[in-house]
Amino acid sequence: MNQHRMVVEADNGAELLFVCPYDGCGRRLVLKRSGGLTVLDRGDFFALHSGGTEGLQIEAGIGG
Ligand SMILES: [Zn+2]
Repeated sequence: MNQHRMVVEADNGAELLFVCPYDGCGRRLVLKRSGGLTVLDRGDFFALHSGGTEGLQIEAGIGG
């Protein structure tokens, strides 16, 4: 199974926009610091996605 590491593209203090930089994927999601996330683009359904920034981590497979 593919593992993709997502990166933070934008952060407005309350929400973070994560994008997957892998070719052919393009997964995007918004993660709220208060909890919860919204998937904007599903991307590669079969990949495991993880990512994070200072003080905040999303675990492999979250939102998948
Ligand atoms: Zn991906």
